[in-house]
Amino acid sequence: MIVFDLKCAKDHVFEAWFRDNATFEKQRRAKDISCPVCGENKIKKAPMAPNIAVGATEKNGTAGKATKDTAMAEKMMSTCRALRDAVEKNSDYVGPRFAEEARRIHYGEADKRSIYGEASDRDARELHEEGVSITAIPWISRTDS
Ligand SMILES: [Zn+2]
Repeated sequence: MIVFDLKCAKDHVFEAWFRDNATFEKQRRAKDISCPVCGENKIKKAPMAPNIAVGATEKNGTAGKATKDTAMAEKMMSTCRALRDAVEKNSDYVGPRFAEEARRIHYGEADKRSIYGEASDRDARELHEEGVSITAIPWISRTDS
């Protein structure tokens, strides 16, 4: 859960809890959030940091929002890198033949193993419809390291 300070178009500030930031954005766009004072549903975040757990970099009081966003982005990048390394170590790279190979494994025509490679959105959809279990992962190239 996350609490935000929200502000309506008439500058009433109020607090509201959301499951996460995405939920807040969705409800805000759907105009599901209304001001408890005037009922206005044009809501935006009040200029105050959301009250969520913060990392060590925040504790010294000098780190602002930009630092937090950067730290978060870096954390995501390193998660992506770790994911990529794990996939590379444990799976066979089949490149653009991914869809074909995934099907062969699914239908028992090839050895059962983990593979990774490139698939178009259409391939991914078709595989999913055929019941082939695949996972899309955020891939980052070596040059970003
Ligand atoms: Zn209001």
